[in-house]
Amino acid sequence: MKIFLQVVNKFKISLISFGIFLIIGLIVWGFRNIMYLYLFVGIGFLDSATRILIQYFPKARQFVRLSLQFTIGFFLLVWLGLIIGVNFQFPEIFFDTYAGIITGALIQLIVARLILPFFLGNGFCSRACWTGFFFEMTNPIVRDKRKIIHRSNYIAWSYLIGLVCLSFFVAFIWDPATNIEMRKWWIIGENLFIASIGFILTFFIGSRAYCRMLCPFMTISGLISPYSLFKITPINFSKCTNCRLCNKNCPMLIKVETYVNNNKRINDPTCILCERCISACTEGVLKLTTKNELAIK
Ligand code: SF4
Ligand code: SF4
Ligand code: SF4
Repeated sequence: MKIFLQVVNKFKISLISFGIFLIIGLIVWGFRNIMYLYLFVGIGFLDSATRILIQYFPKARQFVRLSLQFTIGFFLLVWLGLIIGVNFQFPEIFFDTYAGIITGALIQLIVARLILPFFLGNGFCSRACWTGFFFEMTNPIVRDKRKIIHRSNYIAWSYLIGLVCLSFFVAFIWDPATNIEMRKWWIIGENLFIASIGFILTFFIGSRAYCRMLCPFMTISGLISPYSLFKITPINFSKCTNCRLCNKNCPMLIKVETYVNNNKRINDPTCILCERCISACTEGVLKLTTKNELAIK
């Protein structure tokens, strides 16, 4: 029993992650079909397995995470999106609403943006989002203070509301929810638009501009992520040398060091739990944990 509890404690993030995906898969199976159970169990298994791998090979943390993100993102975009025709992007929710149906987009919103954030914050962004993978590969971390524009809720919510209005307009004119050819062209066009605007904006206003400033999914999950069970936590803040490598490596331009100096968990609503700050810290100050676990008060 003692060994069992030690194993559970050691791998608790992986077990919780797998458990959440399993439960979600079972629930969605009840409403839709068994393919959703396979999908969520598969994603949960990959996420858990990579988290265990990282525990044994922490130096490979970013390679393993990006490999996972590429695999899941490629599957969601190319197989489910372009081949099967399931659109996971935000406007699809309103195309479907207009047509009176439920497809992957609404399920993605509920699972990744309304349930998962209570446990793993915006973790979907650093482990499954294909646009996030593209930005991570192409967006330099611009830290020129003259250029950086920080997130504005006014801009983010205006963009979201504008997108909802545009989506209903497009649904009224072309009805992409029931027209598979139209839907595929929309998927291609929308992804090209997001990639281009994110790529261009980053050069003017700093790293991951689209994610930080505009993405409607972030706007929604960012309301919940500050209450996440798991967060980046300073487990021994007294070892911090104020080198600021964590700040320099954060793609969301979060002032990690300030949180560390105040012995506070990273509570920023835009943290995507990429763990780049953990990888950058040579003093082992940071860890992904439950509330104040191991923290020196
Ligand atoms: S913020 Fe949006 S585009 Fe960026 S990684 Fe998250 S879901 Fe993807
Ligand atoms: S604070 Fe750390 S985990 Fe969060 S986005 Fe920045 S580097 Fe990634
Ligand atoms: S990288 Fe580590 S030691 Fe350096 S400022 Fe950040 S938390 Fe402190």
